[in-house]
Amino acid sequence: MRVGFVGLGAMGAHMARNLHRAGLLGAVWNRTSEKAKTLASELGCQAPETLAAVASSVDAVVMCVSADDDVLQVVRALAPGMRKGTLVIDCSTVGAETARAAYNLLQPGGVEFLDAPVSGGVEGAQNATLAIMTGGTSEAFAQAQPILAALGKTIAHFGPTGSGQAAKATNQIMCAGIIEAVSEAMAFARAQGLPLEKVVDTLGKGAGSSWYFVHRAPNMVRGAYPAGFRVRLHAKDLGICRDMAARFGVALPVVERMLGEYSELVSRGYGDEDISATFRLKEELFERSGKPGAPKKDA
Ligand code: NAP
Repeated sequence: MRVGFVGLGAMGAHMARNLHRAGLLGAVWNRTSEKAKTLASELGCQAPETLAAVASSVDAVVMCVSADDDVLQVVRALAPGMRKGTLVIDCSTVGAETARAAYNLLQPGGVEFLDAPVSGGVEGAQNATLAIMTGGTSEAFAQAQPILAALGKTIAHFGPTGSGQAAKATNQIMCAGIIEAVSEAMAFARAQGLPLEKVVDTLGKGAGSSWYFVHRAPNMVRGAYPAGFRVRLHAKDLGICRDMAARFGVALPVVERMLGEYSELVSRGYGDEDISATFRLKEELFERSGKPGAPKKDA
């Protein structure tokens, strides 16, 4: 099987390398073509000029681009060149509607489509330990097995097209609630004058702990928020969750609150910081109280 990879960003470049290690990578393509040429000459694969040329030279295409419109642009450019029986796997985080639109663009040509968003960050992409949440036909899922096995460790099929994106959106809502709770709790602990390292060490082993508490509360102790998972990207994902819930006439409180907080962080220039920067807003609640004993800014 020869696989083409489209979108050599922070995630995609590592994923393409893992396909190469598995002996599957035939071609790479990136909007900024220099990145594709450099990687292709390093790995010894093709870097065709156009998506149509990628489509006609492989048995499957994996893509990992930024957002909904980007996925549809790439799929529109691939569709005419893909042969019947081939497969497109989209690992970008986008809406379930976008996944269904991509399926509808490819299906008339007999091309399978699998939405396959991932979780595990750049480290997971690099180490091929991603959790991959897929949606599509059983045939597409079966066809994708060798490819997905080269990219991740936990691979789940949730149901028809769009189900993978729905599972990823579920994960993003959880991340929002957890990072908010961690930030608020740490700002509270600081206002109480607690030794924050000890709070992290001790509560990190308690029932209220989480991956975010253990790995991101230390950012709050240090007052430094290197990405990580960028505020801007999580805001994009929560916008998707908002739209998906709005189809039921529902506004989810956690999603709405965090979109508000992220919008504030972005407007202050913190959009490229890790989402643990939410602590900036929570500590201000206490700093602004003006009550005796309240922490002072940068104290
Ligand atoms: P990134 O570093 O910003 O890379 C984005 C890639 O998409 C680049 O190769 C970019 O090309 C390409 N692209 C964007 N718009 C395009 C378009 N219209 N046509 C063709 N190519 C286009 O992003 P990333 O961190 O790799 O994330 C990619 C996807 O994975 C996103 O949906 C993100 O939400 C998801 N994700 C990210 C993480 C993470 O920790 N970073 C974790 C899980 C999931 P150029 O090089 O030309 O800009």
